[in-house]
Amino acid sequence: MIDEKIIDKELQEKYRQLVEMDNLLPIKISDFYMKKIIEEIDTIGMGGPLYRSVIPIKDKIDLKTSVETRDYVEEDKHNPVENCDYIIQKYENRLVFIITDVCFAHCQYCFRTYNLSKFQQSNLKETIKNKISVLKMYLQSHSNISEVIFSGGDPLSIGYENMKFALDELQQWDIRIHTRAIVYEPSIFTEKMIDLLNKHNVRLVFHINHPYEIDEVVEEKINEIRRAGIRMYSQFPLLRGINDNSKVLIKLLIKMDELNIRPLSIFIPDPISYGAVNRISASRIEKIMDEVNWNTPSWVNSARFVMDTTIGKVRRENIVKREGKCITFSRDGKTVEYYDLDDGIDVPSPIDKLLWKN
Ligand code: SF4
Repeated sequence: MIDEKIIDKELQEKYRQLVEMDNLLPIKISDFYMKKIIEEIDTIGMGGPLYRSVIPIKDKIDLKTSVETRDYVEEDKHNPVENCDYIIQKYENRLVFIITDVCFAHCQYCFRTYNLSKFQQSNLKETIKNKISVLKMYLQSHSNISEVIFSGGDPLSIGYENMKFALDELQQWDIRIHTRAIVYEPSIFTEKMIDLLNKHNVRLVFHINHPYEIDEVVEEKINEIRRAGIRMYSQFPLLRGINDNSKVLIKLLIKMDELNIRPLSIFIPDPISYGAVNRISASRIEKIMDEVNWNTPSWVNSARFVMDTTIGKVRRENIVKREGKCITFSRDGKTVEYYDLDDGIDVPSPIDKLLWKN
């Protein structure tokens, strides 16, 4: 049980039941991140941006929208190898490899909650060696695939020896690693790990959602990784209660630019079950996008606002129809529908709470 000063006992019990009955991820917070949460609680009380990243609030359980689903991007319909849910392929030339189901902390907004929780409960867990052998066989028979994206779970949680094995085995392919380890457990980037990642010329994509996640320790670690010459990128979701204000996004993007992290994508949260607490209405998303685009130089606003869907990533310019709450996107001749948030749910977060240190 987590201390009552951090989460109400009754809410914690309700959440625990949902973990058991409805495939939510158990609360998991690294000691490193917990220190930041305690500092935030001491200053503004519960429910601040870092708090909401890893601790459920009452709205997580109570808020429902008329259209939501467990897995909006339908990853389990994109498994090219039969009975093998850890290889996901949506594009011809690259695929996602779920190298592990373990994370350093569990994000409350995780779009993969349902599948990750299924992986974690599965008795059919494969070893990393088996997974890589199946993956390699698939890659060798599909020469059009040039890039393997390590995802999870957090790929860095597999440890040095497993990472070395994976990278040695897959040296023929470009490797991209998506990770939140830099904010949850920066010490995992040891000198040895950094050398390994550098030797294999990997691309590191950090998921950093809020400028306060980059403290002095994280900044120093990013600088170490940068000095080693590793290419660093960022992508993160736009989340109500965490970063739903253009001022927060601009501050974060500028900070990452100072650290040589190239911005890739800002994701619109999927209409998933238990996700309404983080969602933002389409009109406010567009307002935030315009504020970022119009008020910043191109090295800040080059981050693309995108939504991941079952037909791939789509952007505002891919909208082909709006009818009531239904927005239709089109890509490569295929269409997908997105349902805007029901009225009355999206209450913008006050800026003095989102940026409480300023
Ligand atoms: S680290 Fe990634 S996979 Fe793990 S809970 Fe967070 S968003 Fe989900």
